[in-house]
Amino acid sequence: MKDRLGRSLRNLRLSVTDRCNLRCEYCMPEDDYHWLPRQDVLDFEEFSALVDVFLSLGVDKVRLTGGEPLLRRDIATLVRMLAEKPALQDLALTTNGVLLAAQIDALKAAGLRRITVSLDTLRRDRFAALTRFDQLDAVRDGLAAAHRVYGRFKIDTVVMRGVNDDELADLIEVGRAVHAEVRFIEYMDVGGATRWAPGRVVSRQDILDTLTRRYGAIVPLVEPESTAPAERFALPDGTTFGIIASTTAPFCRSCDRSRLTADGMWYLCLYAARGIDLRGPLRAGASGSDLASIIADGWRGREDRGAEERVALGERRAFVPVQDLLRRDPHLEMHTRGG
Ligand code: SAM
Repeated sequence: MKDRLGRSLRNLRLSVTDRCNLRCEYCMPEDDYHWLPRQDVLDFEEFSALVDVFLSLGVDKVRLTGGEPLLRRDIATLVRMLAEKPALQDLALTTNGVLLAAQIDALKAAGLRRITVSLDTLRRDRFAALTRFDQLDAVRDGLAAAHRVYGRFKIDTVVMRGVNDDELADLIEVGRAVHAEVRFIEYMDVGGATRWAPGRVVSRQDILDTLTRRYGAIVPLVEPESTAPAERFALPDGTTFGIIASTTAPFCRSCDRSRLTADGMWYLCLYAARGIDLRGPLRAGASGSDLASIIADGWRGREDRGAEERVALGERRAFVPVQDLLRRDPHLEMHTRGG
């Protein structure tokens, strides 16, 4: 199934909770939040039923995210329910790593294929300042556990000027030690990033320049079939890393991602102001084919190019001003929509 720009519906990100055990300053900087009402949050059977409909329409990759997905009680049960679906080719999870060491064996046993750990700094004081929790040691335990159980995995790092842009090589070295490929993400002006400013973005080119100065000539890896957001590169010794240039060089034209929030709102773009309510029809007893029609209509009408439109603005500031974020709608938040 294709949208108006010829993009297939393939990649679904399920935000299983809007709660998080960190408060990263680029994602959840405020003191207080409007959480999703508990009764609106989907149970595992409801997620599973909606995933079945998405699979019937061509989705073949699901990534569990949040909030912090490992805060959702018994998440391994949901992993098992999804992993058993034959049409699902790939099942991954993005976590901040704090609870990973304790849960990784259960996740692997339940059928989770891939893990990505988000980690922005290796310095304890910086980690505590950036996330407001002194949990770097727990995340390091999570990295070791991911290496033990999965062998290879990914580390995602948001790069911010004056915050962690002096740690790019250190992160690559830690990734090398645990067989993780680091992906550097440009700081995005998404909902939640209320302190975003253009001067805090470290661009793809800046990242490459820094790493070239340290390691020597970097070679881009040519992957013409890839719809992955990261462009991949190799250092002279063959170590690979990725850059996700969502802010300066967005990849909207190949974006096959959509997002389902924990309360069953479906978003066709990270920057979309409105979502499509799937919880209402599901709980009102809509059949699989009714839900499939809603989703198919939504996707066929999709023409979102949110990140490209942000670039076209020229002068940019935070996508959602903090006063709007607090007053309006929790769905505007990155931790609700699922990064
Ligand atoms: N709690 C999990 C985690 O930390 O990976 C999953 C949810 S988190 C919202 C998913 C990803 O979104 C993280 O890698 C986070 O760094 C990224 N993210 C959040 N705000 C961002 C921003 N303003 N720019 C770029 N990436 C951001």
